Amino acid sequence: MSWLPSRFQPWPALLAMVLAAFAPAGRAALPVADPTAFLEQAENLSRKDHSRFVEMLAQIHREAPRLSPGQQWHLRYLDAWESMFEGSYTKSESLLREVIDHSGEATLVAKARALMLTNLGVNQRYEEAYALANRLAAELPSLKDLAARHLVLMNLSQMLDLAGQTDLAIKYARMMEETALPGETRCIPLSLQVAALYNGKRLTSSSRELQEGIGVCTAADLPVITNTIRLVLASLYLDENQPTRALALLDRIEPSIQANRYYPHMLSERAERAQAHAKLGNDGEARKAALAAIAMSRPGDISEWLMVAYEVLYQVEKKQGNAAAALSYYEHYVTQDKGYLNDISARAVAYEVAQQHMLAQKLETERLGKQNNILRLQQALATKAIEAGRLYIALLLVVLVSIVFWLFRLKRSQLRFKKLSCQDGLTGIANHQHFIGEAERALRLLEKKQGDACLVSIDLDHFKLINDTHGHAMGDAVLKRTVAVCREQLRPGDLFGRLGGEEFGILLPDCLRTEGLIIADRIRSAIEATPIDGDGCIVSVSASIGLASTDLSGYRLQRLCREADAALYRAKRTGRNRVIADIQNSSLVEA
Ligand code: GH3
Ligand code: MG
Ligand code: MG
Repeated sequence: MSWLPSRFQPWPALLAMVLAAFAPAGRAALPVADPTAFLEQAENLSRKDHSRFVEMLAQIHREAPRLSPGQQWHLRYLDAWESMFEGSYTKSESLLREVIDHSGEATLVAKARALMLTNLGVNQRYEEAYALANRLAAELPSLKDLAARHLVLMNLSQMLDLAGQTDLAIKYARMMEETALPGETRCIPLSLQVAALYNGKRLTSSSRELQEGIGVCTAADLPVITNTIRLVLASLYLDENQPTRALALLDRIEPSIQANRYYPHMLSERAERAQAHAKLGNDGEARKAALAAIAMSRPGDISEWLMVAYEVLYQVEKKQGNAAAALSYYEHYVTQDKGYLNDISARAVAYEVAQQHMLAQKLETERLGKQNNILRLQQALATKAIEAGRLYIALLLVVLVSIVFWLFRLKRSQLRFKKLSCQDGLTGIANHQHFIGEAERALRLLEKKQGDACLVSIDLDHFKLINDTHGHAMGDAVLKRTVAVCREQLRPGDLFGRLGGEEFGILLPDCLRTEGLIIADRIRSAIEATPIDGDGCIVSVSASIGLASTDLSGYRLQRLCREADAALYRAKRTGRNRVIADIQNSSLVEA
């Protein structure tokens, strides 16, 4: 059998305990100069001087519009506390949820959650309560505010005690004891430990914790909590079949219980008294005490103490042979017993459900964590593969660009070599070999379309003399000048080449003999008319020109050359500085 009214309605009991734990404070009338300090003070008074707390709450509410968001949230938390104290659990819950979900202030959230735990417990919403308890326990290490920590630890200890988790309940009570708030005694943590030990059936009437708890709480002048522990002791005497000692103790504490008028204590004192008298065979006293306990209750109340009272009444009536009365009390007893057992199992089941849920969540988190790691690795691999791919592409591009560049340079140098191999080094026009090749190709095309062409052969007159008189460099300059002068007289499609030292050849495609002679003579006169200025003296040069035409010589280059040379030879022989064309196999004409 248990002593604790808290078995059914622990939370109002706890609030009362906490209230009684502090002596009423003086009524310092604080103006609201500093709202933060005002709210703090109001919160402290909530546990010491409830009516003053209510006054302060009303006062700060009038100042509400000028409070900062943080102060507004603190006020809302205090409103939730007050609503809970008044028994308005729904209102309190909605205020607490607002603070938890939206305030963003860790300490306030922790306190609100601790109160929420109480709220859920009172309303027998055990599954939610134990899920919240798990969360609070998990967040405990990061909770640094001592007052908030105490509130959380106190609620956790009670909630776990209710679930039959004695070790955990004791652990949290001891944690609370180790971090005592300034000016607070060990009374509340000790009473929580006594409760947990009793519920866990680990106490006997001679246990050290009982005497220590009674000593500390008496010294702290906390009569309600002292009486709670004393009622535990009386209950233990009854369990150990020492009804006389139990009765003596109850007689001793009765005046204090009556004075404090704390309902759960008044009820349990009567029920225990009834039990003691029944054990001693004082049926009349037992009945009186049991009926007094029942008279205190409200219709529909379910309580372990009512169960005890009905059990006593049932036994007394049965002993005295009042079968009808005995049956009626027995029915009441069974109703109370069933309700009580239902509540115990509801709490135990809810606790297990919350634990299972937490375990499942933990496993799921681990699984998700592993999955996450795999995904992260896959992503890293994919990134690396992309990077490697990009590197290969970049390398490939570099190689490709290098090859293209190399090919380009190769081609360029090939073209340069080709050009050089076709060019005459001094004058830049086609060299002998290239001129012959190009001229043969042009003649073949002309032959196909039966076009006309003239081959002009040029040889500078007395060039050796220029070399000998003015030097080889001057000779070179004369050669270059001659080329430039000739070019000015040529058409874009004409072929011009250096055939040897100071000898040049020109193929004039699509050109009749008469036109050729005109062009050749223009060249001759241009050469003659363009002296070169070298070393202070003017060097003049003339050229002899021979011309052969396809009309008489045909399209074979060899023959055209031979006949142009013959005409040239004739020009030399006939006085130089002139143009001679072959006409009908060496009957030559002079231009
Ligand atoms: P002719 O009127 O009979 O043609 O008399 P010529 O002096 O021009 O006769 P020839 O053909 O014997 O002389 C050509 C000279 O041209 C011989 C050679 O020294 C000179 N020569 C050949 N190639 C070059 C060259 O590249 N530069 C210079 N400066 N002289 C060259
Ligand atoms: Mg010559
Ligand atoms: Mg010459």
